[in-house]
Amino acid sequence: MASDETNEPERLDHGLSTIPKLFESIEADGPFTTCIECERDLRPHAQQYLIEKGIRGRETVYEYALCLGCVLGMRARFSEESKRDLDAFFDGRADIEARGLELLATVGPEAGAWIEDCVFCRRPREECPEYQMYAWCSGALVLYSILPYFVCGQCIDLIGEVLSTKTIGDIEDWSDEFLSPPPHLLELLVDTPLKRF
Ligand SMILES: [Zn+2]
Ligand SMILES: [Zn+2]
Repeated sequence: MASDETNEPERLDHGLSTIPKLFESIEADGPFTTCIECERDLRPHAQQYLIEKGIRGRETVYEYALCLGCVLGMRARFSEESKRDLDAFFDGRADIEARGLELLATVGPEAGAWIEDCVFCRRPREECPEYQMYAWCSGALVLYSILPYFVCGQCIDLIGEVLSTKTIGDIEDWSDEFLSPPPHLLELLVDTPLKRF
């Protein structure tokens, strides 16, 4: 049986590739087609959107695609304090722009190679019992710049510590409204970082 990660996407020039299997929707059994929040069609060529997946072990605990407009809307709901703390957290831990440029120059647009280790602590993915991974797409293509990357559970905990209680509450409300993990996983989600983001 072929594993998801051996399914080679088509590499294109200029930091683009087709969407690899590991960033496809399990539920749709193919690429994401609609924004989870506004239900906009994500297939038009110029429609940009974020994909996030929460993984535990080999299981996808949740997954969604969120259009650019809804990503900006979500960020706008963060408090000024949380935004400032979050920016400082990112700046202090990893130069993720430089990382992206280096990966583009070395391995090129190949999502698997971009998510080999945690973007912050560099822990290898196979050593992470849970993590969240992200890709930025436009229509049927992945755009390689800062994303794709993954954040391990321990680093997600650290991010949680810099967010205000209000921001965490907003994220939880959003998750409750839009993310519906398979029922058998709901119990596992209680008090885990994956529930918070
Ligand atoms: Zn949307
Ligand atoms: Zn980490």
